[in-house]
Amino acid sequence: MLIAGAGPVGLTMALELARYGVPVRIIDKVPEPTHTSRAVAVWPRTLELLDRSGAAADIIAIGNKVTVANILSGGRSVASLSLDQIPSPYPFALMVPQYETEAVLRRHLTAHGVTPDLGVELLGFEQDEDGLSARLREPDGTESIKRFAFLVACDGAHSVVRHRLGLEFHGDTLGLDWTQGDFHLSGYPFPSSQMAIFWHEDGPLLFFPMAPDRARIITSLGVSTGAEPVALEQKAFQKMVEARGPGGITLTGTEWVSAFRINERQVENYRSGRVFLAGDAAHIHSPAGGQGMNTGMQDAINLAWKLALVSHGVASAPALLESYDLERRPVGAQVIAASGRMTRIGTLPDHTLQHVRDFIAHILMGLPPVQRAITGLMAEVSIGYPNSPLNGPSLGEVKAGARVRPVAGVAPFGSGNTPVFTACGGSGAAKLASHFPRLVVALACPSGEEALLSLVRPDGYLAAAVQDADWEALIPYLDHLGTERREPII
Ligand SMILES: Cc1cc2nc3c(=O)[nH]c(=O)nc-3n(C[C@H](O)[C@H](O)[C@H](O)COP(=O)(O)OP(=O)(O)OC[C@H]3O[C@@H](n4cnc5c(N)ncnc54)[C@H](O)[C@@H]3O)c2cc1C
Repeated sequence: MLIAGAGPVGLTMALELARYGVPVRIIDKVPEPTHTSRAVAVWPRTLELLDRSGAAADIIAIGNKVTVANILSGGRSVASLSLDQIPSPYPFALMVPQYETEAVLRRHLTAHGVTPDLGVELLGFEQDEDGLSARLREPDGTESIKRFAFLVACDGAHSVVRHRLGLEFHGDTLGLDWTQGDFHLSGYPFPSSQMAIFWHEDGPLLFFPMAPDRARIITSLGVSTGAEPVALEQKAFQKMVEARGPGGITLTGTEWVSAFRINERQVENYRSGRVFLAGDAAHIHSPAGGQGMNTGMQDAINLAWKLALVSHGVASAPALLESYDLERRPVGAQVIAASGRMTRIGTLPDHTLQHVRDFIAHILMGLPPVQRAITGLMAEVSIGYPNSPLNGPSLGEVKAGARVRPVAGVAPFGSGNTPVFTACGGSGAAKLASHFPRLVVALACPSGEEALLSLVRPDGYLAAAVQDADWEALIPYLDHLGTERREPII
């Protein structure tokens, strides 16, 4: 398996495959890891999924937990969203520079015996029935052709793989220029556990605290002229903070600044034969809400167990690999739409509309169901795969395709070193597991809940649910995955 790109998505992909025992080569054209801060928020669902490899605890150890998101306008509070109500063992947004997240992933990957090959560039590839030939440029400049079964393109927004496949990257570039930076500061009027968005008539100002005296600050620069946007240095940024912020904040040092324009684009298909696209190679969107890296890492986690099952010869159904695009493309579209909406709301140019917005937002965001809907989307805990072709029958309130909430203190689904489904139930669950020993493990349900048999995918989404006594109803479902080496029914 070849992974092109050792950013957060490629590293997540490699880590998942490596811990499932799939031989993997991960390459990156840069000679050493990048040290720019970039994506700063890691959301609860990503942490839940990273807990399966053990990486979540290490990232949490170095991050700053934010439990409240404040929105203010004209000095008044519009809304205060409680992230600690998010239904997850990790009810917070974790603020940590992207290079530190990447460093943790690299460390865990190395523990599985895989090191990214830096300075190696993917130049091109050809697919055939048996595999894929990749043309690589090694660090000494020599070119070689190497064979792989599959290629996962985690090569970022300017993906060479996407270009080579001739896939469209549909979407638009929004009309505003933006600047952002990680600054040391004093006078931030909230505790470091609270982020703040100041809606201002000239453009929003966003603070993501990374420590009591350090924050990522983002603000808009105005309508794009078409020229490359230029980042504001500390002095000019300070003026923006004074003009748009609450007053009293002093920037005392700069870690990193950059400028950007928001692109909202998504590739037309996340798969082409033996090639899969994940992360920024497949979708890019507004940083409002900090979803880009999270969504990409979750792409990788969705795909990895499917590739691992196919690679180990445990499951062979075409539907398994086909489901990657069918599951993740709608999620990407949803994230693009939601982050775009947040950006447009925060950058309304008309002053009358701004007042209407503040008034309506104050009322709506004060309602607990609206708060839950917004935070659930940002945390990506409400995202699931309701229309997945992998969904089996389901009973009760939780439908197949929905996220199964992990239980604090219990090993998360899919955390072993094989990509197995977990059958939670009574004796039926145990029988199902013994019938498919390479694909299913049994987990005893808490007492009183054994009557229902829930089959959970290795990535923690519900595959199917039946009465425990009807466990045999799930045999056709698992057979349908193309499962081999089925044991006889005992
Ligand atoms: C300046 C900047 C600021 C950002 N700020 C935020 C933010 O505030 N919040 C947020 O959520 N997101 C932000 N992002 C986006 C976030 O960084 C991305 O969503 C995230 O990095 C996506 O990860 P990825 O692994 O898909 O791609 P990348 O991190 O881009 O990694 C792709 C890797 O592929 C490698 N590569 C490319 N082509 C080849 C090739 N042919 N062969 C081998 N290797 C190759 C590249 O060197 C790179 O290391 C920002 C991005 C940038 C650039």
